[in-house]
Amino acid sequence: MLTLGEKIQTAPPLLPMLIEGQPFIDAQDELSVTEFMRKFGMPERINSEVFVAMAKALDFIDPDKLSMTVVLTAMNRFLNEDNGLQMAFLDGNQPDRVCAPMADHVKARGGDVVMNSPVKEIVVNDDGSIKHLLMRSGEEVVADEYVSAMPVDIMKRMVPKEWQNMPYFRQFDELEGIPVINLHMWFDRKLKAVDHLCFSRSPLLSVYADMSVTCKEYYDPEKSMLELVFAPCSPIAGGKTNWIAKTDEQIIDATMGELARLFPTEIAADDKWPSTKSQGPNGKATLRKYTVVKVPRSVYAAVPGRNKYRPGQRSPIPNLTMAGDWTSQNGGTLSSMTNDEMESVASKGAQWIKSTAQYK
Ligand SMILES: Cc1cc2nc3c(=O)[nH]c(=O)nc-3n(C[C@H](O)[C@H](O)[C@H](O)COP(=O)(O)OP(=O)(O)OC[C@H]3O[C@@H](n4cnc5c(N)ncnc54)[C@H](O)[C@@H]3O)c2cc1C
Repeated sequence: MLTLGEKIQTAPPLLPMLIEGQPFIDAQDELSVTEFMRKFGMPERINSEVFVAMAKALDFIDPDKLSMTVVLTAMNRFLNEDNGLQMAFLDGNQPDRVCAPMADHVKARGGDVVMNSPVKEIVVNDDGSIKHLLMRSGEEVVADEYVSAMPVDIMKRMVPKEWQNMPYFRQFDELEGIPVINLHMWFDRKLKAVDHLCFSRSPLLSVYADMSVTCKEYYDPEKSMLELVFAPCSPIAGGKTNWIAKTDEQIIDATMGELARLFPTEIAADDKWPSTKSQGPNGKATLRKYTVVKVPRSVYAAVPGRNKYRPGQRSPIPNLTMAGDWTSQNGGTLSSMTNDEMESVASKGAQWIKSTAQYK
């Protein structure tokens, strides 16, 4: 907890954010959270009390690596929107509860959703516009409008040589995804200390929750199932260790050690996990099974100075629109469009969805 004095010291640097809004927020992109904090005389303890957990929750990286723009954007939303700070869980798994209804929505309007069908190459016409997509299967997909929502690291490799000298595409080189590891851990009994979403200050863990409590589909009154984000997991994100290169067992052992430290009266000493060996006799919960999901290139690294390289969604290619969380929505496609323009894009999108069926 911050003292009253520390709270008072923290408030003034945030006033320009409230008064000037987005221009002030965007201008802080050259500073890391830690640099901003020191430049504006915020108390040092706000780093360990607030910013470590906040930075790792927002981009899975430490505050000395994260751009202050990210933190200020979130804070501004929390302060200005009635429901800005609400958290909620899906009542089940994402494929069934999010993706399936979206796919049904598209299909009900005559579109199609094709899975497991990666793009291999973007093939262009003489004028630089897209001729077709060459799929890894060898099929060609012809469309009226193409919308890419591929991650930045994939899109960088996909830029056709005809576009490579265009400044719009060159700026992609300045962006990259960070590695993230997601863990699912099933315990033999209920952990009582975790009953909601936790934003951790642990050096190894980011957000985590007991899904047996927070998510209807995984409800279990007897046994806990933790879902955790293991972060930072590489030097680019602030960590000292490249955890992506470690084995699943090494990652789980480190996590069990961290959980043992955080919940000393709950986690049992278990020979299988050496990092739990100093647990006392009160700890009873042992791990039944686990899954480790490593994503070597995940969300884009919002490190200082990157915001200016995020491309707008309206590309210089007439039949290509860029999407994805690494593209810039500020002044971009939707916000700068008139209603008529949006209608036109929406109808083109529908045509594109229909024309994905035109495989040659
Ligand atoms: C562990 C974790 C927890 C998160 N929690 C939250 C949260 O609670 N709230 C929140 O708002 N955000 C959260 N995020 C962030 C959020 O998941 C991302 O911002 C979001 O998924 C980005 O969406 P996207 O469509 O840009 O990219 P992605 O979801 O990464 O989609 C990119 C797609 O491109 C596809 N693709 C790749 N290569 C090809 C190819 N060659 N051809 C065709 N397709 C290809 C991929 O298969 C993928 O489906 C979380 C992220 C992580 C990693």
